[in-house]
Amino acid sequence: MPRLDLRTLILLLAIVSALLTFANTFIATYHTQREQLTEQTLEANRAYAVKLAEISQQFFLDLQSQLAFSADVLAERYGDEQAMDAEIARLILQNSSFNTALVVNADGRVLASSQDTRYLLGQVLSSVGARQALSRREPLVSPTYIGANEQLLVLVSAPIFNRQGDYLGYVGGAIYLQRQNVLHSLLGVHYHRDGSYIYVVDGQGQLIYHEDTERIGQDVSANPVVQKVIAGGEGAQRVVNTRGIEMLAGYAHVPAAQWGVVAQRPLADTLSELDGLVWSSMLHAVPFTLASLLVFWWLATLIARPLRELSAIAKSMDNADAPARIEEVPGWYYEAKRLRKAMLGGVRLLHQKVGQLSQENATDPLTGLTNRRGLQLCLDTWHAEGRAFAVLALDIDHFKRINDTFGHDTGDAVLQFFAQQMRRCARTSDLLCRSGGEEFIMLLPEVSYEEALRIAQRLCDHVAATASPTGEPITISIGIARHPDQATSVAGVLKEADQALYAAKRTGRNRVVGAASMARVTSLT
Ligand code: GH3
Ligand code: MG
Ligand code: MG
Repeated sequence: MPRLDLRTLILLLAIVSALLTFANTFIATYHTQREQLTEQTLEANRAYAVKLAEISQQFFLDLQSQLAFSADVLAERYGDEQAMDAEIARLILQNSSFNTALVVNADGRVLASSQDTRYLLGQVLSSVGARQALSRREPLVSPTYIGANEQLLVLVSAPIFNRQGDYLGYVGGAIYLQRQNVLHSLLGVHYHRDGSYIYVVDGQGQLIYHEDTERIGQDVSANPVVQKVIAGGEGAQRVVNTRGIEMLAGYAHVPAAQWGVVAQRPLADTLSELDGLVWSSMLHAVPFTLASLLVFWWLATLIARPLRELSAIAKSMDNADAPARIEEVPGWYYEAKRLRKAMLGGVRLLHQKVGQLSQENATDPLTGLTNRRGLQLCLDTWHAEGRAFAVLALDIDHFKRINDTFGHDTGDAVLQFFAQQMRRCARTSDLLCRSGGEEFIMLLPEVSYEEALRIAQRLCDHVAATASPTGEPITISIGIARHPDQATSVAGVLKEADQALYAAKRTGRNRVVGAASMARVTSLT
């Protein structure tokens, strides 16, 4: 498992929040774009369907006005077969929309026909379109139906009346819906090439125009959009078509023929545009995201740095340089600054306490001199450093008597007095120690043996000439040894000094004896 430090945590936090923001923006953008694209497509399809419905409406109105003109001509020449044939021929020529045209009398019998339905001449037509034209006696666009020639067709007709207003029959033009005809050029022109297409249904919900000509004649009245458009509606909506595909459909009605025009595009095709859009916007965001992460990383490092450094220092708080190191930690923000301050306070207190404790530990309470423990520490240090020093072992002469004569308190006062005299005669670099009872030790660093003798003698003389708390001067005996001259070990040099002191006592007290001269002194006694 990777180490979970503050920097990693901040970085993770940044990454998670960046990802969440990114995802949020992405989802919001995706949805908005999707809504927009859907709305736009629906509106475009509606507008397109309306346009095509208008064109179709106009187309039928044009056909009807041409048929009305022909009806007038035919009324003039009614009965003249040749003239009627000529008029039909002219109609077909003039108007390429009709696949065939014919003149029918009031009984439904075919009087004249264009070329390909000449076989109907003289027959009585019984088709839906024919019967409706006869019964209604008005300009009509028939429902679509299968004609006598097995063609799915729509019949556009105009009644023929003579000047007296008698009904003579009708002139009709048929458009074969399954064949290539004008509707195909009218409706088949796509300005979209993106999966969108259009279809046209008749009043019964039967497909009469579709790109896939196989489907013409199919009943699609189950489609909700078809139901709306044949009811005369106009609009746009999402719809699942009869084949189960989700479509964005716009629709409009053609009143002249009761037809419905539907322009639609599969939703999936529409949304596939969105994928590209979203991908490219995501790609655009990548450099910025990387740059932000880099900045986050840098910031996380900066934020974590004070804490990391402080925790490293905390491991060695007792080091002498800890306060200085803490001061160097950059406390550039509130919490780091507070923590640094708190640690600094803590470390200073710790050092103070430790110092106090070790000093108390190494001090003789009565005289304020270093005690045996402090002496040992100093000896060990100096020995380890290979320092040269003289050891003076001092002992107050007949101290027991002082106690006995003046009391223990005066004895104590004498000890304090003597400590004071030692201080007076010592340098600051010397170590003054009460080693126990009325016995003292002085360590004099970097002094020669002779110098040590001189210093000791001076102290001895000074004490002997100065009144103590008893009112009288006291006397002391001093033994001297030098490290490393008399002994190279700490214990050895102490022992040498002790023996010299013993010699001083033996030879009469109130005197100084050096270890180097002991043989001589010993031989003297
Ligand atoms: P010498 O000249 O041979 O050193 O004789 P002395 O009497 O000084 O030596 P001794 O060791 O016989 O006596 C030391 C006395 O010091 C015994 C003890 O009661 C006394 N003493 C030890 N510590 C203290 C102290 O802290 N205060 C007082 N007042 N007396 C102490
Ligand atoms: Mg003694
Ligand atoms: Mg003594």
